[in-house]
Parts: sequence; structure tokens; C-alpha cells
Amino acid sequence: MRPAALNPLFAPATGLPGIGPKIGQLLDKLLGENPARVLDLLFHVPYATIDRRHRAKITEAPLDRVVLIEAQVVEHRPPPPRSTAPYKVLVEDETGDVLLVFFLANRQWIEKSLPIGERRWISGKLELWDGHRQMVHPDRVLDAEGLANMLQVEPVYGLTEGLQPRVLGKAIAAALARLPELPEWHAPKIAATLPSFAAALETLHRPQEPEAIAPTAPARVRLAFDELFAHQLALALTRAHMRRVAGRANKGDGSRTAKILAALPFKLTPAQEQAWSEIRADLETPSRMLRLLQGDVGSGKTIVALLAMASVVEAGRQAALMAPTELLARQHYEGIARYAEPAGLKVALLTGRSAERAKTLAALADGSIDFAIGTHALFQESVAFRDLGLAVVDEQHRFGVHQRLALGAKGEAVDVLIMTATPIPRSLVLTYFGDMDLSVLREKPPGRQSIETRALPLERIGEVTARLSRAIAAGARAYWVCPLVEESEASDLAAAEERFGGLRQTFAGKVGLVHGQMKGEERDRAMADFASGKTQILVATTVIEVGVDVPQANIMVIEHAERFGLAQLHQLRGRVGRGGVKSACLLLYKAPLGELAKARIAIMRETEDGFRIAEEDLRLRGEGDVLGTKQSGMPGFKLAQLDVHAELLRLAHAEARHVLEINPKLEGDQGKALVNLLYLFEREAAVKLLQAG
Ligand code: ADP
Ligand code: MG
Repeated sequence: MRPAALNPLFAPATGLPGIGPKIGQLLDKLLGENPARVLDLLFHVPYATIDRRHRAKITEAPLDRVVLIEAQVVEHRPPPPRSTAPYKVLVEDETGDVLLVFFLANRQWIEKSLPIGERRWISGKLELWDGHRQMVHPDRVLDAEGLANMLQVEPVYGLTEGLQPRVLGKAIAAALARLPELPEWHAPKIAATLPSFAAALETLHRPQEPEAIAPTAPARVRLAFDELFAHQLALALTRAHMRRVAGRANKGDGSRTAKILAALPFKLTPAQEQAWSEIRADLETPSRMLRLLQGDVGSGKTIVALLAMASVVEAGRQAALMAPTELLARQHYEGIARYAEPAGLKVALLTGRSAERAKTLAALADGSIDFAIGTHALFQESVAFRDLGLAVVDEQHRFGVHQRLALGAKGEAVDVLIMTATPIPRSLVLTYFGDMDLSVLREKPPGRQSIETRALPLERIGEVTARLSRAIAAGARAYWVCPLVEESEASDLAAAEERFGGLRQTFAGKVGLVHGQMKGEERDRAMADFASGKTQILVATTVIEVGVDVPQANIMVIEHAERFGLAQLHQLRGRVGRGGVKSACLLLYKAPLGELAKARIAIMRETEDGFRIAEEDLRLRGEGDVLGTKQSGMPGFKLAQLDVHAELLRLAHAEARHVLEINPKLEGDQGKALVNLLYLFEREAAVKLLQAG
């Protein structure tokens, strides 16, 4: 049971004053929880600040950083009817003028907020476009009264379409008012160096200076450490629990695996052989397996997992594979069933919306199905196995420890194999994933052509479309990934839709679009059209990063490549070059490139080795990350950024072990405080393990 002291934090956000069901829905969407709770609001920390101490004249204002200008509204330039062009407003001061640019404009709001002839204070980033100053989506448009009420240093939050910053600000203020002072969970020696949990949240949401929200500022360090420590503590508890519960030996007779191997159209690579023999050895011993199979996208993890699953069936048990999305679950299902069924194995796909669900559930319970493949729907309570022996989790950035545990709890002494494509440097793997055994697929299957990677400034986009025209005529299949804009879905989407519209004019009938706000079925359809070749160009926001397998895809265009982190660029590029065809990756960037972006692009051009890229990434980011957490490419953390907080992770790892050594059952006052911490970061599954003994 959750400690009562935490209840105010876990109450739905709609219980806060001024938050009705409509805003509640927007918060659910923004925070990815249903219902969004007070705590989710508090953990939604600002990614930037507007520093009103920086006021500037238009022509003197620095480019590409937030400034506040005071200007007169001169002219409105609405787009022609039914056009997707932006709405523009011209404003000026005595030094010059600026075009304010609004995509997917709310005309009424613009007309009301920017009346012609009036003076307004406008905050946002100025940029040069065709030699003219413009500001895309100002973050504030204020009149004199608004200005007087504004904070000197104002936190800027990620938003979702329809949610006004002012409304979110009020919700967060109300959430802060509910924040109790909780007993300290860290050892005194550590606590002495940090602000308290409550003080840290207060500081982040009410910064007195922009530096206060930096990833290395005490407030962020405190919360990042809390999060990492909760994670490490949960891992350590899990490990201890697994050691206490005996395993079972899953010794197969090799009959099914031999059939599968014989049917494969290729030979296992030496790395796959090695991983497979490590896993087989684990399965055969009576202690439980907890192994991480790490390998870049396309390194062939799925076949290894399939062999492990088949081997468990030989030993008379069942296996399950959990994927982070429905799309991936289906892909795994298709890939696996193809080899498993001829070997006499019964495979079922279980997702949230499968029609045959009841039948499948019955077959899993009576053992007539050998493998279940699905999403998190697999660990719902209604799912029971006759005798689950192995849980494979395809991690792909998504699952937390508690979810892995939930699947492990579906059977007696379940062996666990986690597959991850996250190219975390070796130096961090064990600390990040806890004390797991590790198998690595470092080499790729043979026959892969290297991917020609080129970088071009956006001005040369014409060359890219010309090249694309030739390639498309020759049957190519291309992804076109659109930029991440200011962590706001609305503007991401606007950019993708605009590009989609533009490409459709050149390549009529051959262009598809996928983005995060589409319904599952719509998105599946767009993906299927691209996979079948009905469309040859797929415009996407970064949703495609989460794993799609279209072997024919051979061109990847990444627009505004300078806005992506290395890990993300690498994952995206990994979507092409999967078949035997020659592939290319075009990184379109906005000039001039900063030092960091320049270095990233150089590394991308130099190597395709995910591990090497990960190491370089960590090195570069260590030197000062300017991007938000969204781009860090690291799974599961809300507040910690492993690139910046790697040292904290090591400390958290050591501290978690230390704490469990002296207080293995989390007893006494400090134990209680630690349980609070586990709940706050939703690692409470580990608390339940404690109770299970
Ligand atoms: P991952 O899961 O690591 O991203 P997959 O298991 O999906 O990679 O494999 C990527 C592709 O490579 C698949 O089409 C698979 O059939 C193929 N493949 C796997 N192993 C080999 C191998 N040893 N030789 C040739 N092709 C392979
Ligand atoms: Mg895979």
C-alpha cells in the first residue's frame, strides 16, 4: 500500500483548483499518464527559461536565443484560404522589423493578441530567414498588464496542442502548493550536499535565474540522483529477490532449435553463436537467468531470442516476448512465426485489441500455445500461462523495471532475457541495467552494404529532392524525418505536414505520412502502404525511430539533423540499409552549425558502429549538453540525463548496494523514507518483492 503521506501527490491533477476535465485531458496527453497526477505535473520540469532581463532592440537582439522585444504591430498577413502556409504578423520598433510566424494558426487568438497599431512585448527566438528577421511561434505576446505580471525569469515548459502556457503554469503552481515536505531518504552525508526533494522542485518551477534549471544545477542534480537512486535500488532489490527464489533448469533436447537452424536462409554469425551458447548455458542451469542481449538495430537479436524461446519449449514450458508497441509486436510475430511454425511451435499474437483474445487466453492457459508475442497487454492480470519459462523483453527504450518484473511474475522461476538496441557504452551498461549478465552482438550479419551518409545545408534541399526523384523513379523507398521543434508537438506536426504537402506535389500518390498523433489503425495503414511499396516516401515525425522493419527502405532524409542527438540519428539511420540494397542517409542541417552539431554530424559520417557512436556521444555530451531530455535517447528517465549525469548513476549504483547491505528489508525510519522514494519514481513493484519475502 502506498504510504498515505504521498496521497496528495498521486491525486489526479483534475482535483487541483482551476483544472477541469478539459484541461485534465490535455494534461493526460502532455504527461503521458491517464489520469495525469499532481506528481506528474511536478516532474514536468521546465526545459528553458525566458529571461526577461534580456530585453533588446530588434536589430540588436542576438539570434537563436530567447529575447524579449518591445514592438508595435504593423500588419497582419493571413494565409490564403485553405492554404497550409503560416499566418504572419509584422511588428517593428525604431531599429527594424520582424515577422512573427504562426503555423496552424489560431486566427482569433492572433487577432486579439496582436491588434494593429498597439505596443506589445514579444518573447521568442529571432532567426534570419532569407535575410529577414523572423520569430516562429513567439512563446509570449504580452500587453503592458501582462508584462507587469510576468516573472523576471519564467520557466518554459513542453506543451501539447491546445494547452496554453499560462494554464499549465497555474496547474503547476497549484501542484506545488500540495507538495509536502517528506522525510529525507538519502544518507546524511549525501543529503547535506543537496537541497531537499521539495526545495529542488520549488527551485525548478520558480527559478530565480536561468542557471537554476541547468542539468548540473543543484536542484536538477538532486532530482536526477533521486530518480537514478530509486532505479538502482529497485534493480538491487530485484536481483536480491531473484537470488532468493530458486530457478528451474530448462534443458531442451535440441529438436526444435535444430529445425529452426536448418530452415534459416543464413548461418548464425559468430556473435550470434556466442550469445546463443551463453543463453543456452543459462537456461540449462537451475538458477534463474537475467541476461541482457545488447546489439545494434539489425544485428540479429530476434533470431537469438527465437532459439532461446524454442529451447524452453523443448523443456516443456512456454515463452513470451514483449515488445514496446503494437507495430513492433506484430513485426516480431511475423518474423518469428515464419521460422517457429514450420518447427511445430504454436505462436500467438496478443495485443490490446486482438479480436481472438479470449481464445488465445484460453490456449495460453491450457498450454496449447507455445509462444505469446505482444505488448504490455501480456502482463495484464487476465493473462495466465500454463507454465511460463522464459520472458523475452524487447526493450527499445520503453519499459521500466516494474514492467519486466510483472512479466517475470507470470510463472514460476521465469528466466528473463532483455533485448536492447540502446547503444549504451559498455562502461555504463551494467550500472544502468543493474547486475545482469551480458551478451553483445557487436558485428552485423554479412551482406550489409554500408550506408552512404552525407550532410547538406537546408538551402540545398533542391538537390535532395532532385536526387530523390531519380531514386524514386528507380524504385527506391525513402523515409523523410521532420524536425523536432521546441519540444512542442503542434509545431513538429506542422512541419511534417508542410513537408508532406510539398513532397506530395512533386511525388503525387507516392507519399505517406505518420506522426504520433495519428490513431493506431491509421498509422498502421500508412506504415503498411510504405512497406508494400504503395507509397515510396514516408514523411514522419520521430515516431519511426521506435523500430520499423522495411528492408526495402534505402534512403533516409533527416531534416534539421542538427536538432537530433547522436543516439537518435544513429537509430534513425538504422532504419535503412537492412536489405541488400545500397542505401543513403542525407542529413539536412540548418547552417551555421554549432560546434557540437558539427562534431555529431562528423561522427555520423565517419562510422556506423553504434557502440563507437554511443561512446563519442557520451564524450560530447559530457562537454555540455544544450538539448532537452527528450533527445537524450536514454530510456525511462524523466529527470536524469545519463549523458550529463553518468557520474550520478555510478554513485547511485554504489549507494543502492550499500543501503541494501545495511538495511536489506528497508526497515526503520530511513527504510520508510526509501519506500516513499520508490513510490515517487514508480518503482513500487520492487517494494512488493520485499513483501513477498
Ligand atoms: P535486431 O532485432 O537486432 O534489430 P533482427 O533480428 O531483426 O535484428 O535482424 C535483422 C535482419 O537480419 C533480419 O531480416 C534477419 O532475418 C537478418 N539476419 C539475422 N541474422 C542473420 C545472419 N546471421 N545472417 C544474415 N541475416 C541475418
Ligand atoms: Mg528486432
